Amino acid sequence: MKRPAKLVKGDRVLVDAATAAIKQRYRNDWQEVGAALRTRSGKVFTGVNLDAYLGRMAVCAEAVALGRAFVELGDDGIETIVAVRHPPPDEKDQNIRVVSPCGACRELIFDYDPKARVIVPNGRSPGVVAIGDLLPNKYRRGSET
Ligand SMILES: [Zn+2]
Repeated sequence: MKRPAKLVKGDRVLVDAATAAIKQRYRNDWQEVGAALRTRSGKVFTGVNLDAYLGRMAVCAEAVALGRAFVELGDDGIETIVAVRHPPPDEKDQNIRVVSPCGACRELIFDYDPKARVIVPNGRSPGVVAIGDLLPNKYRRGSET
């Protein structure tokens, strides 16, 4: 994988927006991840994960942010997206940190914008990679190439 690029100012705005979203809606064991994305037309949308008693019904924060964007704007792409995790109260490190999108979200992000930039953990400070770099062999149905 290519080395992640440094964050630009707009990326830090997204990290801050995702952090604010999960700070506002955090509930231990229920809402622990916040996300923010910027569409191609420059609008920012946030989301938090929707955990569920029935675990398979859980929805990731990135999907909630994308859903909000899609309802508002239709298919406007994803210029950049980020997710951050709020630690539970008993965790030693109480910092809210950038986390990588899960495999399912990588598929989702790619489906809605194959050129999306994704902010990911990268040592001391987060970096930016292309969604294609996080998903080198995207799922395709057998009949498609
Ligand atoms: Zn996910």
